[in-house]
Amino acid sequence: MRIPQMLLCCCPACKGELNVTCAEYKDELLSKEFLAEKYQNLVQKFSLEEIQNLLNKLNWTFQNETELIEIVFGRVVYTGNIQCTKCNEEYPIKNRLPRFVKE
Ligand SMILES: [Zn+2]
Repeated sequence: MRIPQMLLCCCPACKGELNVTCAEYKDELLSKEFLAEKYQNLVQKFSLEEIQNLLNKLNWTFQNETELIEIVFGRVVYTGNIQCTKCNEEYPIKNRLPRFVKE
């Protein structure tokens, strides 16, 4: 699960906001092409503050905007947990994918 997906997702049960905790991640930036443009689009959609808050909650630090952008588009949560801030429902992240459907 990557940052843009976290920003987009909401709880499938109640549409509430989700809180993601990360146990294991990998940095997998596939391409630096159009990275600045993609970032501008994301900031226009969600605001820089929301993006930075999400990184802070995950304890992912960055030194400058370049690092921030590389984390936003390159870092993948492989194992973790998602909890709804509204109804408290929990969903696991396994093998990089959020599991919103009960197995
Ligand atoms: Zn919920």
